[in-house]
Amino acid sequence: MKLNLALSMACAAACGLAALPAAAAGGAPYWDYTGQDQWAGIVDTSDPSLVPPYNYPYAECGIGQNQSPMDLDGVAQGTVNRLKWSYPKAEQPTYLNNGHAGQVTMPVGYAGTLSVGNDAYPLIQFHFHAPSEHVINGVAHDAEVHYVHVRADGKIAVLGVFLDVGAENPALDRVLNNIPQTVGSVTGPAVSPGAFLPVKDDRQSLYTYAGSVTTPPCSEGVSWYVQSQPITLSATQLDALKAIYDENARHPQSANGRVVTQTFP
Ligand SMILES: [Zn+2]
Repeated sequence: MKLNLALSMACAAACGLAALPAAAAGGAPYWDYTGQDQWAGIVDTSDPSLVPPYNYPYAECGIGQNQSPMDLDGVAQGTVNRLKWSYPKAEQPTYLNNGHAGQVTMPVGYAGTLSVGNDAYPLIQFHFHAPSEHVINGVAHDAEVHYVHVRADGKIAVLGVFLDVGAENPALDRVLNNIPQTVGSVTGPAVSPGAFLPVKDDRQSLYTYAGSVTTPPCSEGVSWYVQSQPITLSATQLDALKAIYDENARHPQSANGRVVTQTFP
């Protein structure tokens, strides 16, 4: 059950079920980015028996003290357990437009993991935001990809990679060409998730902090790792990404005493 709960939490974060009308989404009410300061006050009207505070499914977006994204400026230098990627090619992934972002969902049984020290987190999906959600001293990058990993015990680790306009990223075309332009999903050609990681020498340079998923219900308990070194995409590719979703970025949230650690190789 924990896995199911964790998966449903990750899915709520990134599969966009919350975007659908209540009747279609099993009670998760509609939200959008233009009204993001009001997420916490959205009322679930699908079940008349729900009374306050239970009819505020996204309350954590407002009352949570460990919310994401964050401004990563003002960090402390430190060390974290070394990260290790094992992202084999995924056959027949699902290309999804979830109503908030373009996403690629790994097939059931996919063996790819992100390891943090001895802890291995299975990769469930990756999706895109434009502009980036995390910012550095108030400045956003052109886009950000989030790799969502969920462990069987419910622990979630999300890896963020910034994208900036520069050299074309050939692997991105396959993703852009297969994600539906409107809400829906298709099973598509194989994808290599590692294609959107920085080059190997740069991968251990990252920011890490304790946060949340960045979409309603804004659940906390997420270990965040954000790569310091961006990757590139062409201006045409950025336009194509924005044609799927633009401005799908939550505003930076208060640190509330949290410290972001920046680590170097
Ligand atoms: Zn995301």
